[in-house]
Amino acid sequence: MTRVFSGVKPTGHLTLGNYLGAMRQWAAVDQHRADALFCIVDLHALTVDHDPARVRRLSRQAATLLLAVGLDPALCTVFVQSHVDEHARLSYVLECVATDGEMRRTIQYKEKAARERERGGSVRLSLLTYPVLMAADILVYGADEVPVGDDQAQHVELTRDLAVRFNQRYGHTFVVPRATFPAVAARVMNLQEPTSKMGKSDDSGPGIVYLLDEPDVVRKKIMRAVTDSGREIVYDREERPGVANLLEILAACTGGNPEALSGAYESYGSLKQDTAEAVVELLRPVQERHRALCADPGYVEGVLRDGAERARVLARPTVDAAYRAIGL
Ligand code: ADP
Repeated sequence: MTRVFSGVKPTGHLTLGNYLGAMRQWAAVDQHRADALFCIVDLHALTVDHDPARVRRLSRQAATLLLAVGLDPALCTVFVQSHVDEHARLSYVLECVATDGEMRRTIQYKEKAARERERGGSVRLSLLTYPVLMAADILVYGADEVPVGDDQAQHVELTRDLAVRFNQRYGHTFVVPRATFPAVAARVMNLQEPTSKMGKSDDSGPGIVYLLDEPDVVRKKIMRAVTDSGREIVYDREERPGVANLLEILAACTGGNPEALSGAYESYGSLKQDTAEAVVELLRPVQERHRALCADPGYVEGVLRDGAERARVLARPTVDAAYRAIGL
């Protein structure tokens, strides 16, 4: 059976980008067709300035939301990365096949390191080695597929490189995984700056729709989305990124095609209105389930405990094999 692994970072409240780019496919497709593991990757939240209590709170919130979007512990494994020591153990071994040059070339490192320096902070070494830990997250489960948004394409590529290099040097140990992306909305853009992605770590902003935003907040954010000075509604990601983003969000919510939808609208106002209502409807059941799950925190804890137990059983033999192969 195909093995699938993917994760979310508890660095902020989960967004519409996380949902459309990744979580929705996990719930609707992946958990039904594969042996799927979904992880709250809390170690990755420590790579930038962080408040310990907030990371813990956001991890629990992310777990609750993963269940609220429809992940079913009877079908898949939901767990927290730091509960399974094997990720960190494998990461060290992979650091011994990765090079500092390939880490420094990753887009996310360049962007995030520049942001930290602008703020006058120093760059944590873990920010540089982040993709190695991510490779360990994936390889430790022998995942065949990694369903992600397209911002993660480079990191999955790097994971493949490390797996191939390790296998060539030390004998076949790892499955070489591949990334899979949603057909529409693989990169949801910030509503106020449609040339940058809607990222949860940017913290509260009028351009980010959070999964737990009240319907009226969602409406306001979408109605105020930046479009451009053109008049007709055309789907062009390069020239008209704001409109293209709205069309993609609407298409992803309604199961349509952004190009075809562009012909159905004559004004930005009606496009925004329909997009806002489609997002409100998409989020309504998620928010309802989230409320119910919040009333039962013991259930969520139990799911995470069982998930970690199963994950450990799967991870341990891979780490043992990698340690033996590399000479330990
Ligand atoms: P973030 O950038 O929000 O911190 P994570 O690293 O936690 O994202 O990503 C969780 C999943 O959500 C990943 O598969 C990532 O590719 C996807 N994702 C994040 N932001 C977006 C976006 N704006 N559009 C599409 N997918 C996204």
